[in-house]
Amino acid sequence: MQTIDSYNFAGKKAFVRVDFNVPLNENFEITDDTRIRGALPTLKKILKDGGSPIIASHLGKPKKNQDTGLSMKYVLPRVQELLGVNVTLAPDCVGEKTAELAKNLKLGEALLLENLRFHAEEEGKPRDLNVDALDESTAKDVTKTAKKLAKAAQKEFTKMLASLADCYVMDAFGTAHRAHASTALIAEHFPKDKMFGYLMNAEVSSVEKIMANPARPFTAIMGGSKVSTKIDIITNMLQKVDNLIIAGGMTYTFAKALGGKIGNSICENDKLDLALEIIELAKKNGVNLLLADDTKAADNFSNDANTQFVSVNEIPDSWEGMDIGPVSEKKFADVIKASKTILWNGPTGVFEFDNFAHGSRSVAEAIVEATKNGAFSLIGGGDSVACINKFGFADAVSYVSTGGGALLEAIEGKVLPGIAAIKE
Ligand code: AMP
Repeated sequence: MQTIDSYNFAGKKAFVRVDFNVPLNENFEITDDTRIRGALPTLKKILKDGGSPIIASHLGKPKKNQDTGLSMKYVLPRVQELLGVNVTLAPDCVGEKTAELAKNLKLGEALLLENLRFHAEEEGKPRDLNVDALDESTAKDVTKTAKKLAKAAQKEFTKMLASLADCYVMDAFGTAHRAHASTALIAEHFPKDKMFGYLMNAEVSSVEKIMANPARPFTAIMGGSKVSTKIDIITNMLQKVDNLIIAGGMTYTFAKALGGKIGNSICENDKLDLALEIIELAKKNGVNLLLADDTKAADNFSNDANTQFVSVNEIPDSWEGMDIGPVSEKKFADVIKASKTILWNGPTGVFEFDNFAHGSRSVAEAIVEATKNGAFSLIGGGDSVACINKFGFADAVSYVSTGGGALLEAIEGKVLPGIAAIKE
């Protein structure tokens, strides 16, 4: 497998798939440029070697080709500023004009392709297919044919993208769980000249550190609102970890399943049996499953609600559990601090309200302490990243993942197409 460090880009045009899907405000200004910054080491290495990056990304979810609100023209000035070289915006990501621009691209300069998802072929799904007026069997046939045609068109589109460059660098972890033209399919056009960029390298090696051969004890802290969205991760983690801490809104589904009184707390009544199955599976696998004992309950869902600490099994009617209490905080922190590998996904409570962020903060502090003592800690998958940033601890843990959905799929144990395409 090629590595970006050992590859010499001198005189080469590199197709670099990045994740520049940045948030824009109503004036089309970038409100957070973390993702652009994340790709800079890769782009700078290519330029330093004497190569030229052809930068490709999607932006948002365009419903049609040339959705003007989602043009890469809004991203261009920031890319140019951070990269410090001349960056030209191509009018499209494929087509004659773009091919011409790529061909004439000077060494030491970069080309930014227009939004990849302006073409439905990037995702390889039929766009605007409406079969409502057809009978069921015809609709099925038409849909099947449309999907087949979309896949064929995706192949052609992939070829056009590949023809722009001499090598392929995958650096978009945020979309590595998608088998799209630019994230996975394109790699087969560069059997000897494909590699991960620096961001992908960091993400992939962090995931491997926890999934392949973790230092023990290994503790996963799963929070967030629902069991249903976390079940695949929990099941996979039960094969891997020594300790599994379950916190957040899921707490109350478990408490109710075990016969507790949970008042108005968030609960998935159709997942009570599942909660009991998880408890059994943990026992069977010898995993130490830790559930909260106490909760900070509120008399309404707001930051200034009245609060009291009660047992998770004795929450008064019309009160709801909004965060873990001090007994659980200590129980969880003790286990976390004694761990050598830690994965944190999901807050312990409604951390967006300052009055219910204490539990999540205490988990974060315990992770920071464990990390200081040599543990490897990976934070990722949505809200725990927001948590760690809110508390200002991003630099005090081992790695904060940039990929929400991609990280979740990786820790569910799935093979990510964007990773497999490079490793194959
Ligand atoms: P998820 O996207 O499933 O990781 O869930 C994250 C969300 O869960 C955050 O917005 C939290 O506010 C929410 N959450 C965590 N604990 C609770 C709780 N006890 N009651 C309601 N929502 C919660």
